[in-house]
Amino acid sequence: MRIRPRIPAAAYPRRDALRQRLRELERSNALFRMALQDAPVILFTQDRDLRYTWIYNPAGAYTPERVIGKTDADLIAPGDAVVLTEIKRRVLETGAHTREHVYLARGGDPAYYDLMIEPISDALGQIIGISAVAVDVTAQRLRDDQLQQSQAHFRRLVESSVVGILIGEQERITFANDAFLRLVGYERAEIEDGRVSWQAITPPEYAELDRRAVEQLQELGECEPFEKEYIRRDGSRVPILLGAATLSRAPFKWVAFVLDNTARKQLLDHEQAARHEVESALKMRDEFLAITAHELKAPLTVLLGLSDLLLGRARREQSLNQRDAQTVATMKHQAQRLNGLIESLLDIARIQTGRISIERQLIDLGALLDRLVAETRELVAPQHPIIFDRAPGPYMLVGDAARLEQVFHNLLGNAVKYSPVGKPITVRLTRASGQAEVAVIDEGIGIPPAAQERLFQQFYRAPNVQSVPGIGVGLFVAKQILSLHGGDISVISAEGCGSTFTVRLPLEPEP
Ligand code: ADP
Repeated sequence: MRIRPRIPAAAYPRRDALRQRLRELERSNALFRMALQDAPVILFTQDRDLRYTWIYNPAGAYTPERVIGKTDADLIAPGDAVVLTEIKRRVLETGAHTREHVYLARGGDPAYYDLMIEPISDALGQIIGISAVAVDVTAQRLRDDQLQQSQAHFRRLVESSVVGILIGEQERITFANDAFLRLVGYERAEIEDGRVSWQAITPPEYAELDRRAVEQLQELGECEPFEKEYIRRDGSRVPILLGAATLSRAPFKWVAFVLDNTARKQLLDHEQAARHEVESALKMRDEFLAITAHELKAPLTVLLGLSDLLLGRARREQSLNQRDAQTVATMKHQAQRLNGLIESLLDIARIQTGRISIERQLIDLGALLDRLVAETRELVAPQHPIIFDRAPGPYMLVGDAARLEQVFHNLLGNAVKYSPVGKPITVRLTRASGQAEVAVIDEGIGIPPAAQERLFQQFYRAPNVQSVPGIGVGLFVAKQILSLHGGDISVISAEGCGSTFTVRLPLEPEP
């Protein structure tokens, strides 16, 4: 057997060159595959019948095996197949390459392709098929659509006549919409070529506000909307509401939204004027009340003095018969009632104008109540038994004796007024946690629950008082007097079952 001698590789230059070429081809093939591996690019060739003859990187679940030999009609949705086939046929017929954006519905999963098709010719120049590159541009297209949509929204906003919009760089306004121009009365060119700056149309007193807004813009990227004014071209001022946001920091670009604030301002001004009117009307009423009450008191005091004089003389000299003496006593009683009413009105006027004040003296509350109960007993006995139930203890406090007497006088008076004849009234004085508690308890008509909350408002009277005289001022004044003493008042009552009014007052510490 003949053994072939080993021939060195260099002896076969042609074979080596071929191997070398093959290796290069494989390498460039590998590079090509690598480059396209993750790219949304499909490469394919089709014959004259538009059957796929080669495909690289088919879309979705397609594989070369499934695709080769088939047409688009075999593979994809009929509508999409018609679109693609028509484009490809045109290339086969005209021999001209084409590049188009095609939209494929893909049965509800739409996609956009950038499709480039070249005809393939044989050695004789006959077109025998096509080669194509299809790049999936769906993501980019959707991004473009979104961008277009938001641009359209922004344009709508800019064109709307409602919001004034300014876009600017540094100190300069580079764009102003029609709504803004209408608001300030300037031409677009005047604003946009820098002849009119936003500082120039802002009254100087707003410079500080503007400075703070610019600071916020630069630091936080937006500034809180704030109210200011612009000076119109005709010199008049327009109130506005302004908000702004930063578009870019370097260079500093911003967008500002300007709203005409005239209507709101007018409303506020009207509201303020109306409030002033009401306040001055109330002030006038209080002054009128105070002056009238004061003027009424003078003749009344004379009347009371004269009736006292008359009664005293009658008693001493027996100058009046029984009936006339009784008439004068009634006159005096009515004049006293009138005096009480005028005092109440004066108190209301004092409270409204903040002119009520109390004297501060050391008072023995126990003694004060003792005397008051005794006096009331004398006046109303025997219509109402009055019990004074006093727990032991000093009841010293700092306050105004006359004013506190007024409070308890009113409470006792009410207990008498709103109780049927014969029903007892109890005044209970106790001491707890450094406070005196005075409960005035009656067994009278009581107070309906809904009325209890409103009892301490001025001029309020419960619906069940019927013909009992009164003007609904006593409890209101009592509450104010007690609060000036650092105390308070509350009520517990049931309609038809009597009421308990409880006063609490801070006491001086025990010695
Ligand atoms: P006036 O007694 O002059 O109406 P007040 O301010 O003293 O005014 O009392 C306000 C209202 O509270 C009374 O109109 C009455 O409806 C109710 N009220 C006060 N005290 C009593 C009471 N002891 N029993 C029942 N109702 C009372």
